[in-house]
Amino acid sequence: MKSETVRVSFLGAAGCVTGSRYLVEFQNYRFLVDAGLFQGKKELRLKNWEEPSFDPGKIDAVFLTHAHIDHTGYLPLLVKRGFKGPIFSTAATSDLLALLLPDSAHLQEEEARYANMHKTSRHDPAKPLYDLVDAEKALKLRKTILRDEWQEPLSGIRVLARAAGHILGSVHLTFDLGGKVINFSGDIGRYDTPMLPDPVPTEFGDLLVCESTYGDRLHSHSDMETELEHVVKGAAARGGALLIPAFAIGRTQHILYVLAELERAGRIPVLPVCVDSPMAVNSTSIYSKYNFDFDADAKAIIDRGDSPLTTGRMTFSRTVEESKALNNLKGPRIIISASGMMNGGRVLHHAGHLLPDFRNTVLFVGFQAEGTRGRIIQSGAREIKMFGRHIEVRADIKTISGLSAHGDRDELLRWLSSSEGAPKKVRIVHGEPESSQVFAETLRERFSWDAEPAVLGEMLEI
Ligand SMILES: [Zn+2]
Repeated sequence: MKSETVRVSFLGAAGCVTGSRYLVEFQNYRFLVDAGLFQGKKELRLKNWEEPSFDPGKIDAVFLTHAHIDHTGYLPLLVKRGFKGPIFSTAATSDLLALLLPDSAHLQEEEARYANMHKTSRHDPAKPLYDLVDAEKALKLRKTILRDEWQEPLSGIRVLARAAGHILGSVHLTFDLGGKVINFSGDIGRYDTPMLPDPVPTEFGDLLVCESTYGDRLHSHSDMETELEHVVKGAAARGGALLIPAFAIGRTQHILYVLAELERAGRIPVLPVCVDSPMAVNSTSIYSKYNFDFDADAKAIIDRGDSPLTTGRMTFSRTVEESKALNNLKGPRIIISASGMMNGGRVLHHAGHLLPDFRNTVLFVGFQAEGTRGRIIQSGAREIKMFGRHIEVRADIKTISGLSAHGDRDELLRWLSSSEGAPKKVRIVHGEPESSQVFAETLRERFSWDAEPAVLGEMLEI
């Protein structure tokens, strides 16, 4: 029976890569798929403050594809505005949320404090979007769904979650609503990424909502292991520190995995490796906890009795004192610290300490957005302003590109063509306008699918 209408509204990640939020209405149910924050440019961030087009108190549930803040950071605000329903996700996503939501609340509170101190807000006093209490309340609503088997967490709402290969715990979601099939891709990862399974195929039906972050581009397929081997050997030969600014969740574990592999293969010397960010320390232990979710290569390492994320001389620093003590170390060593773009966090005090010395190396392993300190240093600046001082940049600056948690155009196409059936309708989301447009065209040409970029606020009746 395919009589009942399903309504899907696009409340975010339409024409941009953040703020993933989709409202699904079916029978008497209203639920959200993802509840993300808009991030980046100010005009986007201001959207977080807008009144939602729905009553949060009347939302029955939220289903999450993965833990990234642009998919989950709206949850505390939803709760603040009256949402009380369950938040369904995989167990790993649920654990990562317990790190990410309080951190996001902390950043919101910091921002408000900064605005009050510098009088940069129109509002006096400036208030945070939400606070720690709201984040804690949201965490209490978490409920786990299993992967790879159809579940019916609400009567009449059937859902199938399958690995998306993007970050630990990430899935794409297939809903069966009274016989109508709606797919949400979430963020689709890359094939052959360390630890993570490849994106698992699904079955398409009436509507596919598909991401397009790199829908118009291909990643460079450079040999990351060999590049990292050369950088580590070079840094060790100079006798100084190798500082790697990296996102705490995902990228840090990727780097640790490759460093450990290179060490075991005898391709690099066993140097002290310090993971210096409380979030990175905690997320690394969550990765280890869910090692049964790892891909076959990582499981083989575990079966041999090794730990895929542990290098020979690895230490963790949780406290600021432990972090500052790293400044007293001498000789070749590796420090992995956040934030990944050097726009905040502990990595800054390391950078201030290490940049002026030509023996040290800074390695960028992620995209450096325009305007960030990371981008300025990566572009070859000889001097950088930090802590109100001018710091000379004499360290060796290296970049390894092509590391991404997102599949490129061909990887997205690979996932789509590995899945069964053809979606009757496709809406392209989670991409810059150009990328979404090009990807929609690609799907029309390759598969003759009815594909269009989603428009913010649009509602489809299926
Ligand atoms: Zn993501």
